[in-house]
Amino acid sequence: MLRMRSGCPFLERTRPGPLPGSRRRRGTLCGVPAALPELLVPWFDEHARDLPWRRPGTTPWGVLVSEFMLQQTPVSRVAPIWVEWLRRWPRPSDLASAGQADVLRAWGKLGYPRRALRLHAAATAIAEVHADRVPDDLDALLALPGVGPYTARAVLAFGYRRRAAVVDTNIRRVIARAVHGAGDAGPARTAADLADADALLPADDPTAARFSAALMELGACVCTARRPRCATCPVRQRCAWQAAGRPAYTGPVKPAQRFTGTDRQVRGRLLDVLRDAPGPVTRAALDAAWHDAGQRDRCVLSLLDDRLVEQFADGRFALPGESGPSGAAGSGPSDRP
Ligand code: SF4
Repeated sequence: MLRMRSGCPFLERTRPGPLPGSRRRRGTLCGVPAALPELLVPWFDEHARDLPWRRPGTTPWGVLVSEFMLQQTPVSRVAPIWVEWLRRWPRPSDLASAGQADVLRAWGKLGYPRRALRLHAAATAIAEVHADRVPDDLDALLALPGVGPYTARAVLAFGYRRRAAVVDTNIRRVIARAVHGAGDAGPARTAADLADADALLPADDPTAARFSAALMELGACVCTARRPRCATCPVRQRCAWQAAGRPAYTGPVKPAQRFTGTDRQVRGRLLDVLRDAPGPVTRAALDAAWHDAGQRDRCVLSLLDDRLVEQFADGRFALPGESGPSGAAGSGPSDRP
C-alpha cells in the first residue's frame, strides 16, 4: 500500500460518527473516508458524460460488452460500436449464436481483436451455463473467458450497482494524488490498489457504485495524467497532492507505446483485408497489405496462432469459421501455412 503522507485531508478528517453511506473499517486507508464520496458523487451527478452504457435500461450484459471494449480503446471509438453491438446482439445468446467472422467484422477497428473472440466465448458460457444471465457473483464472473478482476468488479458495480472496489488506471491516479499526495500512482500493486479503493467506498451498494463511476470519471476528465485540471476539480480543497505543493513524481515511468510500424499495426492491416473481403483471400492479397515480407509473415503466423485467421488447404486465408462465397473453401482449414 502506498505510504500515507501526513497532511492528507482525507486521512486526517475526523467526525463524531460515520456519515450515512460510509463506514469505518479497521486498517483501512482513511479513518472515515467520507469526504471523497460527499464531494465526488454530487459532482458526478452534474457533470458525468452521457455515455451510452450509462443510460437507463443498460443491462449487465451491456456493461460487460462495454468493459471488454474499453479495456484498451478510448470511449469515443467504443461508443458507436457498442451501440451497434447491443442493437444486433441484445442478449448473450444472440452473440453466442453469431459466427466468429461476423463478430470480428463487427469489432471493426477497436484493436486487440482477441478481445472479440473472448467476448464471444464469454457470451457462449453465459448462455449455456448461466441461462443467458450475466452472473452477479464475483467467482462466477471470474470463471468466464476473458474476464479478469477489473472486469468482474466493474460488472458488479456498474451492471448490478453493488459495492465492489474497481481499480483502473484513472482511479489509481486519483487515489495516488488526492489521498496519498503522490504525483502519480507508479506501477500497479494489485492487492494494495484494491485495498486502497475499497477503503474509500461508502457502505451502501448504490452509493458505492456511483462513487466508483465518479472516481473513474474524475481521472478520465479532470485528474488526467499529464495536465490535471485542478482549478475545476471538485476535491481541490481536500487534495493531498495540492496540500503538499504538487511534488513532482519521481517513480518509474511507463514508456509511451508507439503504433506505427509495429506488429500490431501490421496485424491490423492484414485483418482489414480479411474483414473487407466477402470470403477467403489469396496470399497475394495479404502480401499487398504490408511491404516488409519478414514482418508480414511473422504477423500472419501470429494471427493463425491466435485463431483470428484460418488457412485453407488451397492456400487461401479467411476469418475463422468462414467459407468461400460458394461454401466450398478448398478442403477446409489446414493446421499451418
Ligand atoms: S486537485 Fe488536481 S491533483 Fe487533486 S484530485 Fe483534483 S485534479 Fe487531481
